[in-house]
Amino acid sequence: MSIIRYHQAARPFLAGQLSFVGVVAVPYLSVVDSDLSKAWVSKRVDLVDASGIRKVFDLAAKLKDPINLSIGLPDFDVPEAAKTAAIDAIQRGENRYTQTQGTALLRDKLHTSLSAELGRDVGEVLVTSGVSGGLLLAAMATLDVGDEAIFLDPYFVMYRHVMTMIGARGVTVDSYPDFRFHPEKVEAAITPRTKVLILNSPSNPTGVVMSVPELEAAVKLARKHNLLIIADEIYEPFMYDRSIPSIARLEPNVLLLRGFSKSHAMTGWRLGYAVGPAGGGIIQAMAKLQQYTYVCAPSPFQAAAVAAMDVEMVSYVDAYRRKRDIAYGILKKKFDLVEPQGAFYIFPAAPKGQTATEFVQRAIEQNVLVIPGNVFSARDTHFRVSYATTDEKLAKGCEILCSLV
Ligand code: PMP
Repeated sequence: MSIIRYHQAARPFLAGQLSFVGVVAVPYLSVVDSDLSKAWVSKRVDLVDASGIRKVFDLAAKLKDPINLSIGLPDFDVPEAAKTAAIDAIQRGENRYTQTQGTALLRDKLHTSLSAELGRDVGEVLVTSGVSGGLLLAAMATLDVGDEAIFLDPYFVMYRHVMTMIGARGVTVDSYPDFRFHPEKVEAAITPRTKVLILNSPSNPTGVVMSVPELEAAVKLARKHNLLIIADEIYEPFMYDRSIPSIARLEPNVLLLRGFSKSHAMTGWRLGYAVGPAGGGIIQAMAKLQQYTYVCAPSPFQAAAVAAMDVEMVSYVDAYRRKRDIAYGILKKKFDLVEPQGAFYIFPAAPKGQTATEFVQRAIEQNVLVIPGNVFSARDTHFRVSYATTDEKLAKGCEILCSLV
């Protein structure tokens, strides 16, 4: 529909909405013209494709009590101390806007804890509405239309779509079959428009944790080409074999994004944070944009996060290590796969001769829900298994997957 026709069509509709101007009430049109409603949608939205993951969820909705190995959130609940702190904050009346950058209490606590972890003053902290909120603000604060951000394929789906939404380009670097950071491959993708390198360790969907030499190589590359590293460390607490330091320990000019969704099972509370160099740069720019988008992260949950930071989460990480061992131990008997060292995903190759989508279809017919790799990748050769479920369901689901080979 052309712009002219759209405007002509829109005018009578808009005039028909209920409005009280003085004492004049204009009748309300209860039926919305669906063609017109579609015409209002921007091209930006058409470019974002949500079909892959939606298909899996549509299928899931039809299954009765499936073994669901598709979910990207912990199977434990928010720690009691955090729940109590949230309820207390609400009762105390902490229900209003906070400062855009977050409450002083939470920011100070994050600043102290991160400075101790990274061995230096970490600069500025911005509390965000989840890491998703941090990612959108970071992309908007750093990339102009046509600028490029590089990340490895397979990737966390949001990276690609955020770039599309803001008119930047997401440039992917194929990391199959080992899913590791190969600096020469990444360097080959750098152009004069490249500004940002997004690293995600531990990774969704592969579970790979970047080694110290890989982190060093990334830092070297970023320095050589003046790139900003955005380190998405949302799965940072979930490392099972050895604890690899944050890349922000090696390089101060990193924008670090972390959150409470995975670490404390607060996916619905929308709480994350961004940490970057002091001095009025990126964090300030993100805060400025937050003022006109999210405004602030949810107030009572910021209070809850302060309490959550004191909760010992080691037992949860131990439980997930066990789940990783269960899933890897079973799946490796039949599938070609890389042993994951972190997060709660494993990314095996579909059996030879079938696409991941075809294999996932067969798994779903057996009541096991996993996600085809083409949701996270240009390839449709692998599938993602989330082991964030009970040990029993996990073992049963993995055995069924093996039986399909
Ligand atoms: N980064 C990665 C790698 C993720 O997997 C997720 C959630 N699945 C996010 C960021 C966003 O998490 P949230 O917005 O809940 O903090």
